[in-house]
Amino acid sequence: MNRECPECNGEMYYESNTKHFICKQCGLYATREDIYEILERKKPLKKKKSKEDEYLDWWLSSKK
Ligand SMILES: [Zn+2]
Repeated sequence: MNRECPECNGEMYYESNTKHFICKQCGLYATREDIYEILERKKPLKKKKSKEDEYLDWWLSSKK
């Protein structure tokens, strides 16, 4: 279960006992929610949370 780091696009490892992702390259240590927030902040057009975003949140949180 590896993911791309939102900061450096490096490889991330999932630590299941703490439910945190750890970046192999920059050392970022974050939960899935933290990573999602970082990605949200990196969006060029930041606007208020819309219904679509809430739906996306729900969908992401439901996804295994
Ligand atoms: Zn990184």
